[in-house]
Amino acid sequence: MSPSPLRVLIAGGGIGGLCLAQGLRKAGVDVTVFERAPSAAAFREGYRLHVSPEGSRALHSCLPDELFTVLQETSGRPPRSMSFLTERLAELLSVEVLPAGAEPDPVAAHRSVNRYTLRQILLTGLDDIVHYGKECVGYERHGDEAVTVRFADGSTAEGTVLIGAEGGRSAVREQLLPHAGRVETGMVSVGGRLPLDAETRALLPRHLSSGPASVLAPRGFSLFIATHQAVIADRYRHLAPPEAGDYVVWGFTGPRDRLPVVDRPAREVRRLVLERMRGWDRRLRALVERSDLDTIHPIVLRTAVPIDAWRPSNVTVMGDAIHSMPPSLGVGANIALRDAELLTRKLSAVQRGRLGTVQAIGEYEREMRKYGFAAVRASNRALKQSAITGPVAFATTKAALRIMNALPPVKNMVFR
Ligand SMILES: Cc1cc2nc3c(=O)[nH]c(=O)nc-3n(C[C@H](O)[C@H](O)[C@H](O)COP(=O)(O)OP(=O)(O)OC[C@H]3O[C@@H](n4cnc5c(N)ncnc54)[C@H](O)[C@@H]3O)c2cc1C
Repeated sequence: MSPSPLRVLIAGGGIGGLCLAQGLRKAGVDVTVFERAPSAAAFREGYRLHVSPEGSRALHSCLPDELFTVLQETSGRPPRSMSFLTERLAELLSVEVLPAGAEPDPVAAHRSVNRYTLRQILLTGLDDIVHYGKECVGYERHGDEAVTVRFADGSTAEGTVLIGAEGGRSAVREQLLPHAGRVETGMVSVGGRLPLDAETRALLPRHLSSGPASVLAPRGFSLFIATHQAVIADRYRHLAPPEAGDYVVWGFTGPRDRLPVVDRPAREVRRLVLERMRGWDRRLRALVERSDLDTIHPIVLRTAVPIDAWRPSNVTVMGDAIHSMPPSLGVGANIALRDAELLTRKLSAVQRGRLGTVQAIGEYEREMRKYGFAAVRASNRALKQSAITGPVAFATTKAALRIMNALPPVKNMVFR
């Protein structure tokens, strides 16, 4: 097989698309990213993201060494445990993700990263290949080796391969796989954030000092809480969000019919959340009360519906564009990073003449469907498990977690 000139077009410059662009550029593949946002300055998301050992490994593989070092040096304190608590702050289960005294693996580590900082790192060195204000609206294939992508401003671009990485509402997926549904889970989540100052520290359950915690409460409600604590050296100040500093993020989740927060003003959303938290430990309520209204946002939790294999071509999809999932396990971005690493490997093989374009995409899609849809199913299961509405089922779940907590070999087997 003779080496084919490869030109990769990526629609969407989010976590997955940018990581893929970094990987392809490192491998010497011609790549261009088309992002809908008007400029890099438009990315204002400043919340914490949990990067798993798998996501970290993918970043290590795709980023140039010096950028991976920046990621390591700007990451927050690594989580050492994950806890499940009652709404009265009694421990149900606490699992070590990093045993006391152990140092995290420098590559495959659990990391707490700031989304804004991660995006800035992923954009570094890509100025000449990321084009802003380019909302992809569709494409035309010309056989298996050529594709034209169309943008909302009327312009087009030509390439060999098109990757849809535009998140849950991907235009590429809608055209390529019109039957691939994305549905509501019936659950909503309200996110908020507050600075980790002395007053907030005094409110945090002790479990939060070593990692995130999930509060399981009656009537299908749950609260996720995590801190992000990072010492950013002066040389990396430009990578930190404008409102730099340590902070606490929380997400209050519940059935949509019991938590009517969609399209309500933030003040009303906060009031509704606090009403649902009546009878909870006052410190948990205080976290919500003290959060600035600007940081409080409801999200309708949606999920991709896994589909059967399709015929591969020179157009494919990655990340939330194909396997969006509720954030119950905090793995969506990590799976997008894994896609980026896998696609980088497959497309590099095309560049070197070792695989044909469609064969490479087919191999990527076969593997991606397995782990991507497995993560979708696991995230939906976890969402259901955290939203138990019946009192008997709720009591049984709490008892099961407590029993597991008392049997370290069992919990290590389940959670490691
Ligand atoms: C509250 C919450 C917490 C989460 N926490 C975690 C976590 O801790 N760990 C984790 O792994 N995952 C987490 N996730 C999931 C994670 O955010 C997503 O899975 C991840 O962002 C998906 O990356 P992506 O690159 O596929 O899509 P995105 O990050 O959504 O990027 C898509 C990009 O495409 C652009 N775009 C959109 N439409 C177009 C278009 N038509 N043309 C061109 N560009 C377009 C967008 O502007 C964006 O830049 C969380 C999600 C939520 C909602």
